[in-house]
Parts: sequence; C-alpha cells; structure tokens
Amino acid sequence: MKLSKRIENLPPYLFVQISKKIAEKRAKGEEVISFAIGDPDLPTPKHILAELCKAAEDPSNHRYPETEGLPVLRKAMAEWYQKRFGVKLNPDTEVLPLIGSKEGIGHAAWCFLDPGDIALVPNPAYPVYAISSQLAGAEVFNLPLNKGNNFLPNLEAIPQNILSKAKVLWINYPNNPTGAVAGLSFFQEVSNFAAKHNLAVCHDGPYSEIAFDGYKPVSFLEADGAKDVGIEFHSLSKSYNMTGWRIGMAVGNAKMIDALRRFKSNLDSGIPQAIQLMAIAALNGSQEIINQNCAIYQRRRDRLVEALRNIGMEVTAPKASLYIWAPVPESYTSASFATELLDKTGVVVTPGTGYGTAGEGYIRLSLTVPDEQIEKGIAKLTGYKKSS
Ligand SMILES: *Cc1c(COP(=O)(O)O)cnc(C)c1O
Repeated sequence: MKLSKRIENLPPYLFVQISKKIAEKRAKGEEVISFAIGDPDLPTPKHILAELCKAAEDPSNHRYPETEGLPVLRKAMAEWYQKRFGVKLNPDTEVLPLIGSKEGIGHAAWCFLDPGDIALVPNPAYPVYAISSQLAGAEVFNLPLNKGNNFLPNLEAIPQNILSKAKVLWINYPNNPTGAVAGLSFFQEVSNFAAKHNLAVCHDGPYSEIAFDGYKPVSFLEADGAKDVGIEFHSLSKSYNMTGWRIGMAVGNAKMIDALRRFKSNLDSGIPQAIQLMAIAALNGSQEIINQNCAIYQRRRDRLVEALRNIGMEVTAPKASLYIWAPVPESYTSASFATELLDKTGVVVTPGTGYGTAGEGYIRLSLTVPDEQIEKGIAKLTGYKKSS
C-alpha cells in the first residue's frame, strides 16, 4: 500500500513524541513531572456538567446535529462577545461553532489558500497553522517572534514578492508558546495591513480569558475594520476547562465564516448537541469560574517563575496564557536543555523548537499542572541546581 505524499511528508505531531518519552520513563518506574502539555487539569464546572447530564436524557439530542450549530448556541456566542469585548456579531452570518477551535484552524487553510499561495505564519507557533497550510498545498512564510520584537511579527519586514502571493496572515494572542500579549494598537496595525495587502487574517485567541495581575486581553475584532479582513478563533477549552468536550468557534468576517461553514458541511456533521448545550451553559452562566482559574494559574506562575530564577534562568512572568517561555542557559540548545532536565531531574518541558525554528534557545513550561505536582517539580528543579 502506498500512502499519499501529504501523509508521508507530515511531521509527527509534537505532543505524540513527548507523551511517548514520558511513558518510557514511567515504564522504568521513574517519577516524571510534566510541564509539557497545555491541557487544564481543573475539572469542568458542575453547572456545565449538569447540563450535559440533562441533555443526554433528551432523545432530540441523540440525532445528527446541524453543521452550523444550534441557533441558541450561535446567539449565546454572539452575546458573550458583546458582553466581553463590546464586539457586535450577527449570530447567523458571523458566528460558526466548531468541534474545538483546532478543527476550524485546520480547515481554514482549505478555505483561503490554493496551491502556490503563501500563508504568513508566526514562528514559533501552534503547529496547526503551518501544517494545515502545507496540507492545503500552500507555502509558509515564517514571521519570527523574538524578544527584540516583543514576540509580535514585524509586518513591515515582509518582502514585497512574498506579500504579492500571500493570502492568509495568522496571529495568536495571548500567545502560545511565548506567553506574549498584543494590545489594540497591534491589532489595528494588522487590520490596516491586511486591508492594504488583501490578506485574510486568522486570529487564534483561545487564551483571552487566561490573564494575570488584572490584565484583560482584547479581541482582534475590536480593531477598526477587523471584521472586513478577518476572523477570530475562540474556544471554550481553556476558559472553562472543557478541552475534552471539543467545542470552540470562529467569529467575524461573514464571507470567511461562510466559506468555513461550506467546507465543514462537506466533512463533518457538527458538534454533539448535548455539548452545544454545555457551551450555552458556560457562556450564559456565571463567569466566576474564569476568575477562579486565573487565580490558580497566577499562583502557579509565580511559584514556577521563582523556582526557575532560583536555578539561574532569566524568566519573564507572562501577563496571560498558560505558558512560561524561558530562555535556556548559555551553551545549551532547546533540545539539549530539555533532555538534560528530563534525564537529571525527571521534569518534562517542551523544547521551543517544537513550535518552530525560531523557538530555538527556549523551553516552554505549562501551568496546567496540579499544585502538588508543581511543588514536586519545583523540588526536582531545585535539585538540578545543586547537582550541576
Ligand atoms: C489549545 C489551543 C487551541 C485549541 O483549542 P481547542 O479549541 O481545544 O481545539 C488553539 N490554538 C492554540 C494556540 C492553543 O493553544
């Protein structure tokens, strides 16, 4: 049997490799503390689960859902955007529920790129932007994110010959993996730039609700003209501890939303209706869970930043997201330092290069680790300082 080139050229998904490495260590009986994966350890709130239990009993939720989601769900999504960001959305034309935002992010490439087109993709970044662009036959032009540019792409540095073939611009704030944030002025620059160069902007914003020290991230759609040039992906995964239920959304430009809906309607049959009802409960219910989550993550961030500084690393505390993006000590690469930490301390971190070549020189630590595990990890890291 011969597989498609598309599959043969596919790199293994980052977390698959990490999970394998952890399993190997654990099989040998070694204790491993993993800061590698950004998946909330906190449970889905009770009032959201109650909705699932109720919905499961109702036979009308046992049948095929509609691709475009329940009208009441789209309305709840639009109202949440209005309440949270002051952004007005038409629930019928500017809101599309997704089977987790990763689904929509992966499918977006097929809607906005033809073979030979260019996608402008930050590096480092969530791997799906670049891989889905390549699967759709497009080329990827990297926009490096580094300390020098505050982890914001320098749009003016993109060469004219690239811009003339570029169709899509991906951005993601609060950022995974760097923990960087973007203000309205950057989003305004993106909106203006996209209008000038005829680009479709895809802003991925699953961490807008995970922020610290009173900081409130803004939506790309708050920028003037944003809805004329782009869409925003959002997710219930990180905000409401719902990664396992798979529900997110794309909102914004009606032409882009319609393209995604048309593409999806040919491939999937929508989100299980009981899960749509959970999402309505999450969006319409008390948002207190978000404050509680952020307080927990902020405490973990502070503990971990302190511990990393104690072993001599120069770490900036992130204002938002679930990640600490830490430069590795001199004479190490991302991979050699991650390997050394794992071998010497049993602590797993993600090498920055897992998110792209420009992640070299960094490791990423996730805050989605239970408190007692964090403390164990910190004790192990502290041991590393003594042994080296
Ligand atoms: C977690 C994450 C997502 C995916 O969220 P789902 O809605 O669970 O698919 C998308 N983008 C980034 C940058 C993420 O970190």
